[in-house]
Amino acid sequence: MTLEVLFGAAVILAVVLSLLTKPGSKRQPPIQFFKCARCNTTARHTSRTIEAWRNGKTTFFCQACHAKWLQSRPSQEQVTSFRSRNSGCLGVVALLVLVPVDIALALAHT
Ligand SMILES: [Zn+2]
Repeated sequence: MTLEVLFGAAVILAVVLSLLTKPGSKRQPPIQFFKCARCNTTARHTSRTIEAWRNGKTTFFCQACHAKWLQSRPSQEQVTSFRSRNSGCLGVVALLVLVPVDIALALAHT
């Protein structure tokens, strides 16, 4: 039950955060630079990495590595951006499903 509660709390937190940080808001990473997760180069955030940061990513790739990555996996970027665009809806669905489950579990254990 603890895991479910933790997961539920995490989902609630994610939903609250996504509500607080409205889409299209100009939220910026606190630091302008990041370390490339692939080649360890310190690079400046671009609109692409800032977008990734807004979507909760903690690892970023420099332009060169991103270009290489795109060449090796041309369709993945579309899949990823599609997923991140829909993560808000999925979070709400998960919340709607999980909260009654948590309540039922909590009641069952008391
Ligand atoms: Zn790199």
